[in-house]
Amino acid sequence: MSHAKKSLGQHFLTDQHAIARIVDAVPSGVTALEIGPGRGAITTPLRQRCSQLTVIEKDHNLAAHWQQQGEHDATFGIIHGDVMDLLTTTVRDTQPAWIVGNLPYNISGPLTAQLAALDGISGMVLMYQREVAERIAAAPGTGRVCGGISVITCFYWNIVRICTLPPGAFSPPPKVHSVVLQFSRNPRSADPAGFARLQKCVRTGFAHRRKTIHNNFRPQMNPERWQLCGIDPGLRPEALSLEQWIALAKALPHH
Ligand code: SAM
Repeated sequence: MSHAKKSLGQHFLTDQHAIARIVDAVPSGVTALEIGPGRGAITTPLRQRCSQLTVIEKDHNLAAHWQQQGEHDATFGIIHGDVMDLLTTTVRDTQPAWIVGNLPYNISGPLTAQLAALDGISGMVLMYQREVAERIAAAPGTGRVCGGISVITCFYWNIVRICTLPPGAFSPPPKVHSVVLQFSRNPRSADPAGFARLQKCVRTGFAHRRKTIHNNFRPQMNPERWQLCGIDPGLRPEALSLEQWIALAKALPHH
């Protein structure tokens, strides 16, 4: 195997207990997509557990390894490329029920924004650096730990923490702790237009998190609009609940 590439966030999971916890968080017999199989710590047991598994890997050597591995296995597919470009088409073409990944740190934020919007997925098991996981899993309105990503992810997903891992669970060890989160679909029905509006609204609302929402939404909102949606414009973005964000996204003028 070639050396781990820092630019691709390659920290390979070696802790057997952690591997079992991640794989057990995926229901058995489902179809799945794994982002970044790497050397296969999660991939190999997932192949046993899932009825169909597709993997996306950017690293040329690792992708070639998996291509060879999957040659005579109709239940295993490999896509060589960047998940940031290929996620939507891969999900459309392979229709996985679950998505799994020990995500590369450098893309985990923007990738989660894409994943959070996906329709037709039942659940996801994803690993993050601890601070990012805490922000993603924080309930909107709970203060400093929550952010725009907390609002976006809880629109469609219920999130639970599966485990926390120290740097020594990986080779090479990263500098930070990691956390595995399980996302399961909440009963809210798919509303892509509503999701897109919410995403835009949250981006504006958290642009300056120390400022009040009155300041962040100037000049789009005026006193009448604030009154109509029943939200105190003197609040900071970290104080708004999911329901208030949804109401605010609806109250903003659409273009
Ligand atoms: N799943 C393996 C494990 O748990 O040991 C590897 C995890 S490692 C943190 C991240 C993996 O994602 C690496 O194999 C890396 O090459 C791959 N990767 C990095 N950036 C990627 C991208 N943009 N698209 C697809 N794969 C990527």
